[in-house]
Amino acid sequence: MFEKVLIANRGEIALRIHRACHEMGIRTVAVHSTADENAMHVRLADETVCIGPPAARDSYLNIPAILSAAAITGADAIHPGVGFLSENANFAEMVEEHGFTYIGPTAEHILLMGNKVSAKRAAKEHGIPVVPGSDAIEDIEVAKAVAERIGYPVLIKAAGGGGGRGMRVARDAQSLVENVPQAQAEAMAFFGNSAVFLERYFDRPRHIEMQILADGQGGVIHVGERDCSLQRKHQKVLEETPSPALNAAERDKLGKVVTDAIRSLGYRSAGTLEFLYQNGEFFFIEMNTRLQVEHPISEEISGIDIVREQIRIAAGLPLGYRQEDFQLTGHAIECRINAEHPETFRPSPGMITSYHAPGGLGVRVDSAIYQGYAVPPHYDSLIAKLIVHGRTRTECLMRVKRALEEFVITGIDTTIPMHRMLIEQPDFINGDYDIHWLERLLGHGT
Ligand code: ADP
Repeated sequence: MFEKVLIANRGEIALRIHRACHEMGIRTVAVHSTADENAMHVRLADETVCIGPPAARDSYLNIPAILSAAAITGADAIHPGVGFLSENANFAEMVEEHGFTYIGPTAEHILLMGNKVSAKRAAKEHGIPVVPGSDAIEDIEVAKAVAERIGYPVLIKAAGGGGGRGMRVARDAQSLVENVPQAQAEAMAFFGNSAVFLERYFDRPRHIEMQILADGQGGVIHVGERDCSLQRKHQKVLEETPSPALNAAERDKLGKVVTDAIRSLGYRSAGTLEFLYQNGEFFFIEMNTRLQVEHPISEEISGIDIVREQIRIAAGLPLGYRQEDFQLTGHAIECRINAEHPETFRPSPGMITSYHAPGGLGVRVDSAIYQGYAVPPHYDSLIAKLIVHGRTRTECLMRVKRALEEFVITGIDTTIPMHRMLIEQPDFINGDYDIHWLERLLGHGT
């Protein structure tokens, strides 16, 4: 097993990885920008290295600085966390070239799944149903023909896209012709790759994803699905597992299709396959070849420490579980708490003047904030994840409600009041929602 792991990330996810390492007797190295000198991930780590100024491109995305930090501290392995370099095949390759172990999949798999067009092609080849659509658009006449075949409205998406950005709906041939060049220009500006493609646009789907773990030696399990349909601007706000929309037979069927595909791909590490689900059918949209923000709800219902398994797999050990070794029990919900105004969603960095986290049976808070901590303006606004487990969905909902009542964060705006409002909605309580539901509730309507 590794003796020392460098965590190439910040915030709650850096703490999450630190915790798994320390429970395994592994020492940790934190890297940080000058804006994060007082951050909790820096305080808890065994060793720390400042890797640059506040802007992420100069620090948390600065590959030479991170590799140097690993070399001077003598780290054995590097965990990329989520966001930042966690889906950068070049980084994974350079980590290995410099003699460290990358805690994640191979660079080839990151590259394959990092492009939505090649990911869908690979998924299809391995027996996974995909959203009907096109390859990268080269000729607008061909694109028009594809759109006619799949039917309007169609979604124009960036092949290299992420973070819910750069998607456009075209409702007819004329808007397709107008929007494709703009989408290509945006894709180039955001993702450094101008390729865009078309997909059937679903009007009332749910976003359902499967968490998998694979050791690359034949061991593959799924840890159930997560329903991430509660989204704002294509970004997840609250996730739950199991999905209120799926029955056991559907779950088992999807689990089998996904684990068979992952085995035949020879994939290793944690991963998530994302699907749209409408009228009882699943359609693959993409695969994330990394840990995900919402992984804790799967941990709560399975008892499996997903980060620990990632580390063990990277060290060459076989998966610690077979599918029949564990059961998915109860219900879990995660509320993403952002430093944002609860109605306008304007970012709200600044000093936290008081902080009280909820506790008690079935309540977990993954966060790196504390009283007196100043949330810097330079990074993602996620400051805490409230993760609640109950024996039933009803118990879980009551527990989320009382945990949100207890939660106190003052000095900055947070989305806690939005979550309090959200969980009281009859449609949510009934599990009756799709990916556009939250936007309709918030009045942005789609
Ligand atoms: P990203 O990598 O930017 O997160 P995804 O492909 O995962 O992009 O899509 C993000 C979200 O956008 C999905 O969760 C879903 O809400 C919505 N979306 C994606 N594809 C479609 C589609 N074909 N029809 C309707 N909504 C979609």
